[in-house]
Amino acid sequence: MSNTPSSTPAGSGEFRALAEAIHAFVAEREWQPFHDPKNLAMAVAVEAAELMEHFRWCSSEQSRAVLADPRARPEIEHEVADVLILLIEFCSIAGIDPAAAVRAKLQLNAQRYPVALSKGHSRKYNDLQRPDSTTG
Ligand SMILES: [Mg+2]
Repeated sequence: MSNTPSSTPAGSGEFRALAEAIHAFVAEREWQPFHDPKNLAMAVAVEAAELMEHFRWCSSEQSRAVLADPRARPEIEHEVADVLILLIEFCSIAGIDPAAAVRAKLQLNAQRYPVALSKGHSRKYNDLQRPDSTTG
């Protein structure tokens, strides 16, 4: 992973192909000046909120039913795409390989959330009872 800004999409495989398609879309419209790290990070959050809006005021059970709603489903897929497009674009300009970042974070999470301490509950890693932890 690199922190060097780049005009070449970072990553490999499908992420790289998607990043190249996004770059072409952005370049055709001359939107590069607007795609700085701050704007893209904010846009990811806005699009994530648009995804959440479909589930506002729903119970957990109702949220599963929303996914099966034929009117809501295409809109939800569009919001997922918006989040991913902006996140992939953020990774490109930041020189982050998204697949490598995910693999590294999963490895860190595996250390933070050992199966024996985290199975079946949702406590945050710093609230897990570790054998070597001291109280007080
Ligand atoms: Mg949207």
